[in-house]
Amino acid sequence: MKTAIITVGKEVLTGKTLNTNLTSISSRLHQIGIDVNRSFVIDDKAEEYYQILDFIDEELIIFTGGLGPTIDDITRETVIDYFGVENYVDQVVLKGIRSYFDQIGLTMKDTNNKQALFPKNSIILKNNLGTAPGVIFEAKNKTIVLFPGPPHEMLPMLEELIDYLKDRLSIILFSKGFRLVGTGESAMEKSLVGFYDLHPNVNIAPYANIGEIKYVFTSNSESDLRKAKDAFYHKFSKYIYGGLSDTLEGVVVKILDTKNMIISSAESCTGGMFASSITSVSGSSKVFNEGIVTYSNEAKIKHLGVSLDTLNTYGAVSKETAFEMSNNLYKKTNADITISVTGIAGPTGGTKEKPVGLVFFGVTYKGVTNTHKKLFNGNRNMIRKRSTIFALNLVRKELL
Ligand code: AMP
Ligand code: MG
Repeated sequence: MKTAIITVGKEVLTGKTLNTNLTSISSRLHQIGIDVNRSFVIDDKAEEYYQILDFIDEELIIFTGGLGPTIDDITRETVIDYFGVENYVDQVVLKGIRSYFDQIGLTMKDTNNKQALFPKNSIILKNNLGTAPGVIFEAKNKTIVLFPGPPHEMLPMLEELIDYLKDRLSIILFSKGFRLVGTGESAMEKSLVGFYDLHPNVNIAPYANIGEIKYVFTSNSESDLRKAKDAFYHKFSKYIYGGLSDTLEGVVVKILDTKNMIISSAESCTGGMFASSITSVSGSSKVFNEGIVTYSNEAKIKHLGVSLDTLNTYGAVSKETAFEMSNNLYKKTNADITISVTGIAGPTGGTKEKPVGLVFFGVTYKGVTNTHKKLFNGNRNMIRKRSTIFALNLVRKELL
């Protein structure tokens, strides 16, 4: 299905707003086997809409932006006008917009009326997070879609469009995937050379995030999908921590819970991020009693009994300090497993011997403490995030 995306708005043209709607829509359509042919960004002037609509010949045309109530928001009326479709003001939507204003304690202006304008026989895409509903309609053998600009309002409507397209194109798609840690996108792509060709009927797409990566498999054949997934799992099981709906911290908490174990943490450069991600999981109180943030040397001595000698000889960022932090915490808290993190998040504080991004970890389990040394890249927050993910994965691997 030939598809074009037209993004409307001065804020995108002037570079004030990053066109994330384009990437969200394109990548989501790609997952159901629809590849976008062309994309345009236009100013919110009626003649721009007319020119672009005269120019393109795609069967699916998606607009985002310009559905708001202000005078410069003209997408709805201009596109309806271009296609010359019969239209009406939907009273239910109008009432909804009115009650939205009541709820937030404002009076509705007449200019909001135009947000209830729809082509006859169109599909209204409800907006629970703002006033501008979206719409899908068919005209001149084309499917026309109008989405609002704000991404959080657009994204739920995008899912409705996906359902609509799946029904219409009778695409039965199976979608599954894995989440991986401890490897990167380029290393993965190298290992995957030839793999894609072995599974031509399966779309395999990587989505890299800081410190982790997910692979989404889609296919219209359930058995082809299973074959590709099994082969992938076989090849990369050491990096795979879960399925698409899992989180690393969720998996760690689940393992601890299953084993009836308690974890505690001693953090320096991550400043509590590890404890925070564990406690973001509902039910974590069963597996987590305490975590200590010891940022300064004094705190490491005072709360964890790290020896002054170790700090003077090896420094706070060293495997010796990481060892003592975890080992002493283990003795102090009686937890089943303890973890420590100490490193240089930067951007200052790095030296030739100990550069920014150098992080040491200690894990104590069954009375034995092991240390790990890593050099992460990225800015301060990326280093902290990568350290947290590495620590979570260390715990996961230790427990398995
Ligand atoms: P609009 O519906 O055109 O009035 O857009 C309202 C707001 O949505 C803008 O101020 C942006 O913050 C956001 N927005 C609009 N278009 C995009 C886009 N293509 N990508 C991401 N955000 C957008
Ligand atoms: Mg606007």
